[in-house]
Amino acid sequence: MKNDKILVTGSTGFLGTNLVKHMESSGYKNIVAVSSKDYDLTEQKEVRKMFSDIEPNIVIHLAAYVGGILANKMYPADFSYRNLVINTSTIHEASKHGVKKFVTCIGGCSYPAKAKSPIAENSLFEGYPQNESAPYSLAKAMGFVQANAYRNQYNLNAITLVPGNMYGPHDNFHPNYSHVIPGLIRRFYEAKMNDLPEVVVWGSGTPTRDFVYVEDVAEAIIKATETYDGNELINISSGTETSIRELVETISNLIGYGGKIVWDTTKPDGQMRKIFDTGRMKSLLNFECSTFLKDGLEKTIRWFENNYPNGIRL
Ligand code: GDP
Repeated sequence: MKNDKILVTGSTGFLGTNLVKHMESSGYKNIVAVSSKDYDLTEQKEVRKMFSDIEPNIVIHLAAYVGGILANKMYPADFSYRNLVINTSTIHEASKHGVKKFVTCIGGCSYPAKAKSPIAENSLFEGYPQNESAPYSLAKAMGFVQANAYRNQYNLNAITLVPGNMYGPHDNFHPNYSHVIPGLIRRFYEAKMNDLPEVVVWGSGTPTRDFVYVEDVAEAIIKATETYDGNELINISSGTETSIRELVETISNLIGYGGKIVWDTTKPDGQMRKIFDTGRMKSLLNFECSTFLKDGLEKTIRWFENNYPNGIRL
């Protein structure tokens, strides 16, 4: 695979940035990393041009139109339309250009809102996803349906992965619109810098989540691209359960914040438990996401401190 020409779409996003860095440091020399500045993938003409300009052998397709829950609520049509169009054109042109491998990711949010944890891959179509982001989540889930449709009709070797709740360098650190880990890192860091007496965190602290370090996901994608040729969906996560309370204490300690922590129980807890079943990842990829939460948080916090404020994505 090191001699193949590998096209990475969405290469300036959170996962894309980490994947490209990881591939480069693992000795991949023939990577073509593109973003929406290079090709607007919502225009089929540009998708065609991308394939004829680059002529890749392998495609790792990470481009997506993404946003937080609030943006999803306000622009459901855009989230549905753009992701469906981007994915439809990209896999279609990849197939027409005869690429030998097509790798795509869908979201953990694509699973049914009522899926039982640990969430098994087979439950994908057993219910409707969380209402607010369903137009996005189902557009992403169609990526899996299309991967197998193109595999069955055109022999495209298309595989689909589901990263869990990722965190790490290059994430979105918006104080209110980000996911819990980057949101808290930013809040505790700024509270420490400004000597604030308290930090407000949301909910009761009792929900649990399965957090996965983004570099582990990058490594899993490389492993899957190199070794997995099957049609089964595979969760990529740590499979370990952490309560929001434990998370808050760990972040606060790592940042060295000495003030008070206040729980704002008027803010939503969300799902009480969201953990991914990682059995398939172990058996089909022979892979485990092995970064301990504390170590991953430490690396993320150091990266944040070194890049704050100008190198931080909002
Ligand atoms: P999701 O609920 O898995 O989609 O992901 P989130 O990352 O948005 O939230 C996870 C949990 O963290 C929820 O129980 C929130 O109530 C809790 N939480 C605590 N403080 C924050 C915060 O500052 N931002 C976010 N996003 N969540 C927080």
